[in-house]
Amino acid sequence: MTISIIGAGLSGLLAASQFPEAQIYEKQSREIIKSHRALLRFRSDKIGRALGIPFKEVTVHKAIWSEGNFIKPNPKVCNQYSLKVAGTIEDRSIWNIDTCKRWIAPENLHELLLERFNDRIEWNSNMAWFEKQSATDNVISTGPMYNTLNFCDTIKYDKEKYVFNKQKITVRRYRVPESNVYQTIYFPDPSFGVYRASLNGNRLIVESIDNDSFFARGDEDSIIDIFNCFGISMTELIDCITQNLGKITYFNDIERKHLIYEMSRDYGIYSLGRFAIWKNILLDDVWNDIEVIKQLINKNEYELLKNNLL
Ligand SMILES: Cc1cc2nc3c(=O)[nH]c(=O)nc-3n(C[C@H](O)[C@H](O)[C@H](O)COP(=O)(O)OP(=O)(O)OC[C@H]3O[C@@H](n4cnc5c(N)ncnc54)[C@H](O)[C@@H]3O)c2cc1C
Repeated sequence: MTISIIGAGLSGLLAASQFPEAQIYEKQSREIIKSHRALLRFRSDKIGRALGIPFKEVTVHKAIWSEGNFIKPNPKVCNQYSLKVAGTIEDRSIWNIDTCKRWIAPENLHELLLERFNDRIEWNSNMAWFEKQSATDNVISTGPMYNTLNFCDTIKYDKEKYVFNKQKITVRRYRVPESNVYQTIYFPDPSFGVYRASLNGNRLIVESIDNDSFFARGDEDSIIDIFNCFGISMTELIDCITQNLGKITYFNDIERKHLIYEMSRDYGIYSLGRFAIWKNILLDDVWNDIEVIKQLINKNEYELLKNNLL
C-alpha cells in the first residue's frame, strides 16, 4: 500500500510531515508555486512544536471600520461583510472582535517546508498520481474538491444545485518597520474593495475582494484610507498577489460530507484542507484532520465503526 499526497501547499506539506513514506505530487512548478501570502495565525503552537519550527505567541486586537467610524459588530455590518466576502449571509469571523491570543509562524513557513520535503515532491504532475494509483493505494488530496471529483466518475451529484462558488482575492503586503503589534480591522462597507487589513508585526497585510468595481474606484485611495485607520503613513509595498481560490461559499453540508465520504470509500481519496473539503477551516483544523486520516488509513472498517470514525 502506498500513500500519495496531492498538492504541495501548506496542507499537503503538513501531511507530508506525518506520512514520511508518502510521495507528493504538485501540478505547479517549483518556480511558480505561490507561497501563502494572506494572513496566517494559529490558535495554538501545536503545529510549530511538532515541526520543530518556533511559533510566536502574540496578542491580537480587532476592530470594525464602517462609514468613517470604528463600531461594534451588529447584524447590518456583519451581513454586509459576509455578502462582500462570500456572496451569502453567514456568520463570519467579524462577529467576534474580542482581544485574543494567537500564534504566528515564521513568514517563510511554506518555503521552509518546501525545502524540507523537496526530495519527495514531483513537480508539474497534474495527473501523475492518478495514472500511477492502484486499487490498494491511498491518496490524500488537497486539491480543490471540484477537481478531485472529476477523477471519481462513479460519484454523481447535482452540479446545478451544488455549485462551488469562489471569489478571487488580492493580498498586498507592506513593510512597516516601526511596528511590533498584531491588529486586524474589518471593512464591511460594500463600496470598499478591501475587506480586512492586519498589522502583523512589521507587515501590513491588506486583503481585498478582486472585482472590477474595486479597481474602477481607485485602488491607491483605498490603501491610503487603510493606513489612516491604523494611524500610520503609507509605506513600501513588498508584493501584491492575486489568489484565484480566495474566499469560498459552502453548499449543502450533508451533501458535502457525503461526497468526501464517497471519495474515500470508493477511491481511497482522503480530502484535506479548506479547498479539498470546501469549508473555511484553519490549519489547526487541518492538523487535527491529518490525525483522523491516519486512523482511517490504518484501521479496518470494524475498528472504525467501533470508534465512531465512520
Ligand atoms: C484570506 C485567507 C486567510 C487565511 N487565514 C488563515 C489563518 O489566519 N490561519 C490559518 O490557519 N489558515 C488561514 N487561511 C487558510 C490557509 O491559508 C489555507 O488553508 C491554506 O493556505 C491552504 O493551503 P492548502 O494546502 O489547503 O491549499 P493550496 O494552497 O491551494 O494547495 C493545494 C495545492 O494542490 C495543488 N494541486 C491542485 N490540484 C492538483 C492536482 N490535480 N495534482 C497535483 N497538484 C494539485 C495546487 O497547485 C496547490 O499547490 C487563510 C486563507 C485565506 C485565503
